[in-house]
This record gives sequence, C-alpha cells and structure tokens, in this order.
Amino acid sequence: MIITIDGPVATGKSTIAKKLASAIGYIYYDTGAMYRALTYGVLKNHVDIDNFESLSQFLSAFDFDIKIKQGERRYFIDGEDVTDAIRQDEVTSQVSRISANPAVRQKLVDYQRELSKGVNAVFEGRDMGTVVFPKADLKIFLTGRQEVRAKRRFDKMKKELIGKAGY
Ligand code: C5P
Repeated sequence: MIITIDGPVATGKSTIAKKLASAIGYIYYDTGAMYRALTYGVLKNHVDIDNFESLSQFLSAFDFDIKIKQGERRYFIDGEDVTDAIRQDEVTSQVSRISANPAVRQKLVDYQRELSKGVNAVFEGRDMGTVVFPKADLKIFLTGRQEVRAKRRFDKMKKELIGKAGY
C-alpha cells in the first residue's frame, strides 16, 4: 500500500510522514533528500545541466542508496555518505534550479516508482500524489497558514545556523 504526503514548503510534511510511517510500520521515503543527493552529485561532478550530453551521461550513471545505520537513515551516492552534505547551503541554494530540469525529474520519478513496488510505504514530497503516484491508496495534502509556515521555516533555519556555529 502506498500513502503520499504532498503540500507546499514548511507545512510539516516530513514530520507527519516520519511519525505516520513509524506508527504503522511503513517505510518512509523523503523525496526531497533524493533531489538533494542528485544536486550534490551534479555540483560535485561539475555537470552542466544545460548540456544534454553531459547531463544524460551523469544521470545514467547516478547511483543512489539509502541505508539504516544505528536506527538512523543515511544517504549514499557512489558509496559516499552524503547525509550531512545534502543539507548544506551549497546544495540548498541550488536544489530548486536543478530539480526543475525535466530529465532530472524523470530520473527520480522512475526511481521512486521502482522503490514503491511490492512495499508498504509513505512517500513524502510536493508531487507524490499528483504526478508520481496518482493512484496511491491514500493521498494526504497538507496546508498551513502562511504565518505558521514562515515561523516553521524561520525556526528551522535558526536551528541550522546555531548548529553550524557550534553552540
Ligand atoms: O523537502 P526538501 O526541502 O528537502 O526538498 C528540497 C527541494 O527538492 C525542494 O525545495 C524542491 O525544489 C525539490 N523537490 C522536488 N520534488 C520533490 C521533493 C523535493 O522538486 N518531490
């Protein structure tokens, strides 16, 4: 069974998806982390995403893996643990631009559909119920008041900045 959780930024998609998956024993997939990992790979390999040849070459070789280590989810590309790196500013500032590329989206949509085969899972991300799994068994769309979403985003950025400064 597939459950999707969509919605705009800072509506609490990840928080709800994680809690729901853990409560009902489903696998949780954070598709934002997949877009981030791919972005990390593009930046690391200096891929020009406007160059069809180099992007195609990169995408066909792109290898992404998720492992659970000591109860924590870790993301790998080509064997490198990129879990922390994909949350850094370099990736955050580029991920939207790179995610907008149709070939990049197709690659990850195919990957997500592959992951969904024969499993019970909660897929979280803005296009899950609309584009990737339009026939999902349960589709949840989260919304939130703008002030609440802005505060959530602000608090998250503050937490990240404090973490970076090592307080
Ligand atoms: O959820 P998160 O903020 O980590 O996602 C990072 C970015 O990845 C989003 O801002 C968006 O540009 C992109 N994304 C996407 N489609 C998804 C999930 C994320 O385009 N399903």
